Amino acid sequence: MDVLEQLGANVVWGEDYIEVEGGRISGGTFNLRECSDTTQTLAAVAAFAETAIEITGVGFIRRKETDRLAAMVNELTKCGVEATETKDGLIVRPNLWSLRGATVDTYGDHRMAMSMALLSLRIPRIEINDHDCVEKTFPAFFSRLEGLRPEVKSRRDVVAVVAIDGPAGSGKSTVARLLATELNLPHFDTGAMYRAVAVAALRAGIDSEDQDATTDLARRTEIAIGQRTFVDGIEATDEIRTPEVDQHVSAVAANPGVRRVLVAQQRKWATELGGGVMEGRDIGTEVFPDAVFKVFLTAQPEVRARRRYDESSVQTLGDVADDLERRDLIDSTRADSPLQVAPGAVVVDTSELEIPEVVSELAHLFRLVVED
Ligand code: C5P
Repeated sequence: MDVLEQLGANVVWGEDYIEVEGGRISGGTFNLRECSDTTQTLAAVAAFAETAIEITGVGFIRRKETDRLAAMVNELTKCGVEATETKDGLIVRPNLWSLRGATVDTYGDHRMAMSMALLSLRIPRIEINDHDCVEKTFPAFFSRLEGLRPEVKSRRDVVAVVAIDGPAGSGKSTVARLLATELNLPHFDTGAMYRAVAVAALRAGIDSEDQDATTDLARRTEIAIGQRTFVDGIEATDEIRTPEVDQHVSAVAANPGVRRVLVAQQRKWATELGGGVMEGRDIGTEVFPDAVFKVFLTAQPEVRARRRYDESSVQTLGDVADDLERRDLIDSTRADSPLQVAPGAVVVDTSELEIPEVVSELAHLFRLVVED
């Protein structure tokens, strides 16, 4: 509990219970010699930290049910977590963007099963081989674990926002659209709004780097997003996807004035409709930090570039890849609402997954979280 508290979790000590609430988890170095049985748990939590977590003083757990350090490093690596052994412990260097589901082994060690299962609260499809080994100390473990998912009842007064954030080419649009259909919720592509302002700027000959002029333009521009997109009453469905707009949109979106205007419209829209599947870069962090279900979709850069290239081959694959890299950099390093994994978001690397698989998994998780 002390370690979790130092990492930034909120820990409440009751008379006969302890309540722990997560959020942002920082990093640090912790000597767990006196509580070495929690090494694997902390290593699993470290997968979601903001910076590296080093665990020291536990070299001797190499001789427990299994070599727990080697086992943890192997299995975390399978899930896209960078973990390395040291002389007396291990270091986990988290990268939320590279997390992925995997089939993990337990080596007959109940603590391997229980610690790796924690990853499943945030990454879909963690499969645990030989999970029965939990019976040694905690037969009801998996049903208790399910009870830890945030409980949000579907009530009329809850704005049921599903927030889907992620970089370009991660599969966001396709997944968001299909998930909205599956869940019978409205779908809203917030990226199209930033694109619409970029179109308006290009049409009016306004330099997208001119922050005041672009903010003023965003206030005046009438944007209609749906099956088709209209900017000031003129159809722009194809125009918002041109390489020229790709070039300018991230500068438009890095402008805090433009963001203020568009975020207000997005909140109004979702509140009026009672919720919806909203895709973008900052939905779970900024627009609706209390969204009932948050997802961060990602994919390897080569896969994302290939997808964009296959959609429209106006540019060479190399140019598409360069453009994505440039946009990712601006989007994730800008001062206002950078692209980040929102606290509590389920992270899905779609590189090797089929879209229907991702959609049905997310629909399943949504129902676990939101419905009775
Ligand atoms: O999702 P899409 O690639 O269409 O988004 C275009 C651009 O709009 C992104 O590169 C990003 O700069 C911006 N954007 C944003 N916040 C959102 C959605 C999109 O900054 N919620």
